[in-house]
Amino acid sequence: MKVAVVGAGWAGLSAATRLADSGADVAVFDMAPQPGGRARSVAGDPPYDNGQHILIGAYRDSLALMQRLGVDVNAVLLRAPLALPYPGEPGLQLPPGPPLLAFTRGVLAHRGWPLPARLRLLMAATGWLVRGFRCAPGENVAHLCSGLPRVVLQDLIEPLCVAALNTPAAEASAEVFLRVLKDALFSGAGSADLLLPRRPLSELLATPAHAWLGPRLQLGRRVQRIEPEWQVDGEAFDAVVLACSSVEAARLTADIAPDWAHTAQQLPFQPIVTVYLQSPGSRLAAPMLALREGPDAPAQFVFDHGQLGGAAGRFAFVVSGAADWVARGDAGQAVLAQALRELAWASPPVLDRVLTEKRATFACTPGLQRPAAHIRPGLWAAGDYVAGPYPATLEGAVRAGAAAAQGVLAQGAAKGSPTNTP
Ligand SMILES: Cc1cc2nc3c(=O)[nH]c(=O)nc-3n(C[C@H](O)[C@H](O)[C@H](O)COP(=O)(O)OP(=O)(O)OC[C@H]3O[C@@H](n4cnc5c(N)ncnc54)[C@H](O)[C@@H]3O)c2cc1C
Repeated sequence: MKVAVVGAGWAGLSAATRLADSGADVAVFDMAPQPGGRARSVAGDPPYDNGQHILIGAYRDSLALMQRLGVDVNAVLLRAPLALPYPGEPGLQLPPGPPLLAFTRGVLAHRGWPLPARLRLLMAATGWLVRGFRCAPGENVAHLCSGLPRVVLQDLIEPLCVAALNTPAAEASAEVFLRVLKDALFSGAGSADLLLPRRPLSELLATPAHAWLGPRLQLGRRVQRIEPEWQVDGEAFDAVVLACSSVEAARLTADIAPDWAHTAQQLPFQPIVTVYLQSPGSRLAAPMLALREGPDAPAQFVFDHGQLGGAAGRFAFVVSGAADWVARGDAGQAVLAQALRELAWASPPVLDRVLTEKRATFACTPGLQRPAAHIRPGLWAAGDYVAGPYPATLEGAVRAGAAAAQGVLAQGAAKGSPTNTP
């Protein structure tokens, strides 16, 4: 089978690896000069990440793909039990061990919250468990958690929601949030662990995948046109996986599958702003600290790259669900002021870089209609936005890529193409 993969983000690289492993003749096209899509490094010494990324232990397919491509995941990721320390406060810390037990023990031991607040959280979590982590599709996270004390909402639910769904709790899908919690608490030992990149983002997947794919990956190639069945800019293929952005996928399918294109075109987006500060000689109390967001405080998290094996004195502040800050246009200065107010510095921090991704992820709102993976026979979509249980994450992208590859291979097998369908 000759298969075209359009886009070399994590979804496209996942699809291409699966297809190539199954004996397909794969060609991957990406319009950018480097692979990795949104999860890539950008120029700097050492390189910056195009947005600080966090993985969790439940990202099983992403970790398996990295290993398949020869990446030593223990070397490139710092793994630690989930902890949400705030400046000057230890915050919630889960002990090692089975995630559900660790969650219960961690919450009970968290003396920063009054005992009734801890018990209310455990009772709410038990209710979610009993209901199978399901709720009405139209429910939002703020409503789901409306019975919880303010301190739990502010210190746990709101930061977790905006980190995982890139959507504020009042607008975020409770169904997807519960799915993330379920996977973090029920995917086996270590599934709730935080995995922080110790190397520039491209080294996690994009660069090793490029080396593995070799000339099968063509960069600087923006696919202009797809015609049934199937031509990619005039070259014939047996199948196509669209692993580009939803906007580009909608453009490429507008004539071929107008309904699908319309759904993809309608997806709303949320920005993320990553603000890098420099402060030589400074060090945070932990590699990652949570921060309290507010009207003058945009960032929800800060990462100390010196403690993560990167540039000493470089600090990445993350502003997720950043639509209001992008509209205001002063996220960088506001983060600098927040940093000066909330953290101790060995030398005055200075604004280094502000990276704004206006379409960082789709806005994960209740009942959102997402386009299906299967568009037409021989034409599949892969990407973090494709219909599925996950929010827009690396794991969602990798799973979507694998699912599209699987779909292509199954259709190929049904038509008798000589691939090794796993
Ligand atoms: C700032 C930021 C922070 C994030 N933080 C996290 C996090 O902490 N944890 C997490 O799990 N996720 C995080 N994400 C989300 C994660 O990065 C994405 O979910 C994931 O990278 C999406 O991968 P993808 O392959 O679906 O899409 P993309 O990465 O967007 O890949 C699409 C590719 O298609 C290419 N392309 C587009 N059109 C064409 C065309 N016509 N022809 C050829 N190529 C084309 C593009 O150049 C691009 O390389 C973050 C995202 C951002 C932006």
